[in-house]
Amino acid sequence: MTDSRFNVAVIGAGVVGLAVALEITRRFPQLRLLVLEKEDGVARHQSGHNSGVIHSGVYYKPGSLKARLCVTGAAAMVEFCGQHGIPHKVCGKVIVATTPDELPRLEDLCRRGQTNGLAGLRLIGPEELREFEPHARGIKALYVPATGVTDYALVCEKYAELISAAGGSVLTSAALTGIKRSENEIVLETVRGAFSTRALINCAGLFSDRISRMAGDTPSAQIIPFRGEYYDLVPERASLVRALIYPVPDPRFPFLGVHFTRRVTGKVDAGPNAVLALAREGYRRSDVNLRDLASSVTYSGFWRMAGRLWRDGLAEWYRSLSKSAFVRALQRMLPEVRDDDFVPGGSGVRAQAVTPGGALVDDFQFVPSRNVLHVLNVPSPAATASLAIGRAVVDTAEKLFLN
Ligand SMILES: Cc1cc2nc3c(=O)[nH]c(=O)nc-3n(C[C@H](O)[C@H](O)[C@H](O)COP(=O)(O)OP(=O)(O)OC[C@H]3O[C@@H](n4cnc5c(N)ncnc54)[C@H](O)[C@@H]3O)c2cc1C
Repeated sequence: MTDSRFNVAVIGAGVVGLAVALEITRRFPQLRLLVLEKEDGVARHQSGHNSGVIHSGVYYKPGSLKARLCVTGAAAMVEFCGQHGIPHKVCGKVIVATTPDELPRLEDLCRRGQTNGLAGLRLIGPEELREFEPHARGIKALYVPATGVTDYALVCEKYAELISAAGGSVLTSAALTGIKRSENEIVLETVRGAFSTRALINCAGLFSDRISRMAGDTPSAQIIPFRGEYYDLVPERASLVRALIYPVPDPRFPFLGVHFTRRVTGKVDAGPNAVLALAREGYRRSDVNLRDLASSVTYSGFWRMAGRLWRDGLAEWYRSLSKSAFVRALQRMLPEVRDDDFVPGGSGVRAQAVTPGGALVDDFQFVPSRNVLHVLNVPSPAATASLAIGRAVVDTAEKLFLN
């Protein structure tokens, strides 16, 4: 039985919670650390249902946490994978413009990437694009050499192993059900009994806003779940894609648009789209959770977001329901692919914080409340950036309460 008194507890054994916990073991080896996870293993949600891309940092607003932590985090991730024998590959990627109206945005991305400190970015023409991706077509592309791929579920397993080896406790099948706060103590009620801690870091992903409320705080935004669905390219056609082929993203969305990813296993998939999920852990279209659905549709921010983005939302639903529409979006970059080349693949659900005014929170967000720190918005590229996020969160916690 795990001892019940701790100095610091982390809720959630996804890539962010585990990276935070790992950083605590490195910086404060004397602290008694507990990680609580409701599932029976690590990386069961976003961290184990993503594209596996080590993002370079090209997309993010210069000076933002996303930009800074992605660039340093990507380098740290490549080094971590190398050190611990986790499969990874720095394969580079191309972002492909297929219409003239996308060119200013592509050029802007190139400038952003350079401002963010990325080396080797290059705008290339159709001929050179074919040297990188022989089957891709576009009028111009941005070559991003620093992008790579890995398997974040394996990264999480390694994080957990290192935390345990350093004396931390990672307790699975231990859903947090209640929080009682007093001046110097926080009591965490779980399905495996109660634990006491002096400090708490909430990294509960899709449930981070609910854990924040459970702690008696009022989050400034609410999580709205967006499912991302993938199709797999059948193995006979996987040779159409060498590495990673992305469209030019729509600047109104934090999502990157359906793209091709050659995974670290060699398998090629296409996706993810972004459709409103009717359950926070709703991996299938038919998954509905009435509490989750009610909390979305009774939230003012949801309707304000819907008011602005309903056309795009409907188009995403249509692409979710119609394979041909999904494939048409991909054919713009890779005209040779046909409906028959794809079979349904996996899916993941993104935790996207939305403000009461209906804005999709763009940057990472860490919100302190006395001896509690809530990690409230860590969408993509948080897996890439996890080691750097771990350092940034522990920097904040150190100033506030871990001293
Ligand atoms: C489809 C998709 C594609 C993506 N692609 C990429 C990519 O290619 N590259 C990249 O860098 N990022 C990508 N991301 C983003 C990345 O996966 C996430 O930003 C990251 O995994 C977030 O990690 P997390 O630890 O915050 O969340 P999670 O992995 O969701 O972990 C949160 C954990 O908290 C636990 N929890 C919740 N409530 C409780 C409770 N009450 N008690 C105990 N435990 C609880 C959950 O069970 C869960 O394990 C993608 C995400 C998705 C969904």
